[in-house]
Amino acid sequence: MINKAYCPVCEQEVKFKIKKGLIKEYKGVQVNVEENIPYCSKCGTELFVLEIENNNLKRLYKRYEELTGLVIMKDTIKSKLER
Ligand SMILES: [Zn+2]
Repeated sequence: MINKAYCPVCEQEVKFKIKKGLIKEYKGVQVNVEENIPYCSKCGTELFVLEIENNNLKRLYKRYEELTGLVIMKDTIKSKLER
């Protein structure tokens, strides 16, 4: 994986590092899912990296499904197919 992203504070492509965060609650359910948060190695600003964000969401949805039995991904896919 390329660990570079655009930092709006440095106004350039920077190397980023990863710190751990915790998503405690999702839709009113206690999920306590670890998330990876990319941040600028120069100034420390949190950055948005799509690939990492997608992985965070996958883990979050999976956990939410395990806890509630409600499936998020399939509903999303289904509604896309119906269009
Ligand atoms: Zn920066």
